[in-house]
Amino acid sequence: MNQDYLYRGVIDDLDIRFVIADCTQAANQIILNHDCDPVAAAILANGIASTALLSALLIEDEKYTVKWKTDGALGLVMADCNAQTHLRALISNPHLASSIQEESEIWGKEGSISLIKSSQSKILNSGVVEANFHDLSQDLAFFLSFSDQIETGIATTVNFNPDPHNPIRNCRAFMIQALPDCNLERFEKVRGKLADAHAKQLLAQDSPSDNHFEIILKYISEDLVKQPQFSLEEAPPPQFKCTCSQKAIAQVAKSLGQDELDDAFKTSNALKITCQFCNTTYEITKADLERLT
Ligand SMILES: [Zn+2]
Repeated sequence: MNQDYLYRGVIDDLDIRFVIADCTQAANQIILNHDCDPVAAAILANGIASTALLSALLIEDEKYTVKWKTDGALGLVMADCNAQTHLRALISNPHLASSIQEESEIWGKEGSISLIKSSQSKILNSGVVEANFHDLSQDLAFFLSFSDQIETGIATTVNFNPDPHNPIRNCRAFMIQALPDCNLERFEKVRGKLADAHAKQLLAQDSPSDNHFEIILKYISEDLVKQPQFSLEEAPPPQFKCTCSQKAIAQVAKSLGQDELDDAFKTSNALKITCQFCNTTYEITKADLERLT
């Protein structure tokens, strides 16, 4: 049974949009697929949870692709989501713990985050900004505030089980965004509370009740409104779903170039290519490539 969820709504009195995502099961699946050590798992899960929030901002066949790049041992983290809250993610270094002496080596000196919003037929918008928060969700909140000019706050929580087959105990994210009529001074107060330790504790609660998000909403807005009124909508629950296919992977093979392909087919009847997101290995034959033309 999938217990992951995604809700979006608006705190009416404050003109603040909120989204809450629980991606525990999706994150577990992705982390096991990539054989992440705990250091890499914590970072990747944070990226997955914050990317899941973006699903609530999409419609129809739209998709967000988020890439975090660092010149540290972490390298690249990439995650994407669509309006159905299908998630995929990858991390270039899933064994971070053994490749560093101290934490600063994870992030290096420079980092950036890029976002691409696309539909099946075209790129709708894209941007890249430098981001060095050493926290993927804070990089994303900064991108949305700075590049998309929608003031945003994001809190995430990732906790672990002592179980290698089910390593993530919970992986959740909560986002607030200022709507056009929002008073930004008030927004700043709410954002400050969302960033504090108590809000994180509420988000991390084990076996949260149905009104889990309501408790968080009350906490972050209690200094401004006594009983926050809000609208609420359930979005499709987050789930790991790869978009790879024989045809999509053949397309990747085709981009290798004719000389490389000729060489490869000299020694074998099929190219073995593994999808970076789900580890499925495809065998691509010459006939598969010919079908593309
Ligand atoms: Zn795949």
